[in-house]
Amino acid sequence: MLTTDSHSAPYMGAVHEEKNAMIDKSYVTLEQHVCPICGIVFDTGSILMDRRLQPTFEKHTISGYECCVECKTRLIEYVALIEVDNLKKPTGQLLWLKRDVAGKIFNVPIEDVAYIDAAAVERLKS
Ligand SMILES: [Zn+2]
Repeated sequence: MLTTDSHSAPYMGAVHEEKNAMIDKSYVTLEQHVCPICGIVFDTGSILMDRRLQPTFEKHTISGYECCVECKTRLIEYVALIEVDNLKKPTGQLLWLKRDVAGKIFNVPIEDVAYIDAAAVERLKS
């Protein structure tokens, strides 16, 4: 007996996706910044444009560093302590410390952000 599979639809979806992949470059791009504290990437609300109107951009372009809204708000009351490894690379560990507490712990004034090693983080936690 011959059976037919009614679920085997033609590959319409696959063809459609290929077409979309062809048009991923543009002469305009949405500008994004990276938060140096939490590492989040966010839209600045600006659009960047290629001077010669060449399609050189992906949809989003990261152009620099800027604190995100959340970190900016926290920095009013807190300082950010970013843990770094031996090579001064952030480990992803982040501590927020009340400004008055930070002033008592550290004998140097901290503006907004301090980079500290893992040993210092352990000392602060205890
Ligand atoms: Zn942030």
